[in-house]
Amino acid sequence: MKKAPQILDELGFRKTEIRIKVLEHLQKVEKAVSQPELEKKFNNLADRVTLYRILSAFEEKGIIHKIMDVHGVARYAMCNEKHCTEHEHHDEHVHFNCTECGDVVCLDTVKVPIIKLPKDFSLSRLNLNIEGTCDNCQK
Ligand SMILES: [Zn+2]
Ligand SMILES: [Zn+2]
Ligand SMILES: [Zn+2]
Repeated sequence: MKKAPQILDELGFRKTEIRIKVLEHLQKVEKAVSQPELEKKFNNLADRVTLYRILSAFEEKGIIHKIMDVHGVARYAMCNEKHCTEHEHHDEHVHFNCTECGDVVCLDTVKVPIIKLPKDFSLSRLNLNIEGTCDNCQK
C-alpha cells in the first residue's frame, strides 16, 4: 500500500497534517469509518466542515468510497488502488455490517452481482450491505 503523503502528492493535494492523518487512519483501521468518529478523533485538527470537504475531495479523487451503512450513516473506506481512479469508482464489493460490534468492513473478495439495468438507466453507485457476525465476534 502506498504511503499517505505519496498518495496526496500524486493527486496534487497539499500535504496538511489533517489530510495525512485522516488517510493514515483509514489505511490502518481497514474498515469503514463514519464522519462523527473521525470528528471525534481529529477534533483538535479540523472542524466538521473541513473534514467533510477533505472526505469529499478524497472520494472524488478515487482514494476512498462512501458507504451508507444499515443505519443510514455515511461511512468512508479506502478504495482498492487498482480499481478506482478520479471520477470513477469500482468498489463493487459487499459491505458487511456486524450486528455485534457495529463494525462495517469492505469484503473486497465478495463481488456484488452484476445488475442489468433497463435501457437509458445508468449506474453511478452500487451499495450492497449485509448484516451478520464478523470474524472477530465469532471467536
Ligand atoms: Zn472507489
Ligand atoms: Zn463484529
Ligand atoms: Zn467498500
